[in-house]
Amino acid sequence: MVANVPPDHVVIFGRPGSGKSSLAERLGADFGYTLVRTGEMLRDAVRKGGFLGKRVENHLARGDLVPDRLIFELLEANFRGPGMTHLLFDGFPRTIGQVPLLDQFERRYGFQVGCYLEIDVSREEAVARMTGRRVCPTCGATYHLISKPPKVAEVCDKDGTRLERRPDDTTEVVEFRQQVYDDHAVPILRHYEQTSPNLCRHVNGNQPFAKVYAGTCEALGVADPSPA
Ligand code: AMP
Repeated sequence: MVANVPPDHVVIFGRPGSGKSSLAERLGADFGYTLVRTGEMLRDAVRKGGFLGKRVENHLARGDLVPDRLIFELLEANFRGPGMTHLLFDGFPRTIGQVPLLDQFERRYGFQVGCYLEIDVSREEAVARMTGRRVCPTCGATYHLISKPPKVAEVCDKDGTRLERRPDDTTEVVEFRQQVYDDHAVPILRHYEQTSPNLCRHVNGNQPFAKVYAGTCEALGVADPSPA
């Protein structure tokens, strides 16, 4: 029996290239979650060029994790807590050291995560997705060599500009980010499997987006509002 109310608060995990951020956006739109995205907060801090932004920009460019104490500062500054009724954490906690930080926020703001959701994608598939991404430097259109190829190889359909890779999609950085995920996310998932096994869910992410979304809805105990 599928309910129509998903858990109030969810943490979503998935390696870079798993599609977890697109899933999070869609869940936000369909079920009214407020997204708590440390990656987006960090990029915003870098764009603003303040003290925190300056301290984290090299970590982001390398694809390396920002130290836990700076994530603490970031969340302290950005997390609004009360009034945010449905939270969806995307990208946090990212290290085992950040797990107590989430516990602390739960106690302070009186909410409880009701589902730890892992989008499970093989490392090979994730690397293929990320290294296949292309962007037009003129108009910003995005392509993918396999799933959304331009009509002419490596050329923008809209304005004929030669397509480029994003700086953090180079093979070297992509492989590094995968390794960071393997090193840090696996212990976190293991921790939640031990402490809250009934709240852990896994979705096969090695499928087309619509199917992954349907699997995600099922894992959250809700019907997919727009099945393909
Ligand atoms: P994302 O958009 O979630 O892929 O994050 C982009 C980058 O931001 C990561 O490669 C890390 O450098 C950094 N980052 C995001 N969230 C965290 C976090 N919770 N802890 C440490 N670094 C993070």
